[in-house]
Amino acid sequence: MPLFELQQVHREPRTPFEVRIERTTDEECTVHRWCAVCKKPAKVEELSYSAVIDWALGEGELVQDAFPELSAADREIIISGAHGECFDEEFPPEKVISTEF
Ligand SMILES: [Zn+2]
Repeated sequence: MPLFELQQVHREPRTPFEVRIERTTDEECTVHRWCAVCKKPAKVEELSYSAVIDWALGEGELVQDAFPELSAADREIIISGAHGECFDEEFPPEKVISTEF
């Protein structure tokens, strides 16, 4: 379970288990994570602050249900911290091998 930390002053996460929510305006926030693949910070900006808080304090709502407008790459950052391209590199799509000719 990720560790959520509300903060006024931004610090980058340092482990893949941290989710830092930086409030940027009354309405919006940035979710900061840390990519375990390339060992660099990852973030998703301009998220609805109330939607993030509802999701963070909720009972495990799926990210795709909480943020239906996000791209798959941004969702991956929120879920695992991994950048979309890093995730694809680490977990390449399975090759489909056909044995029928
Ligand atoms: Zn990465």
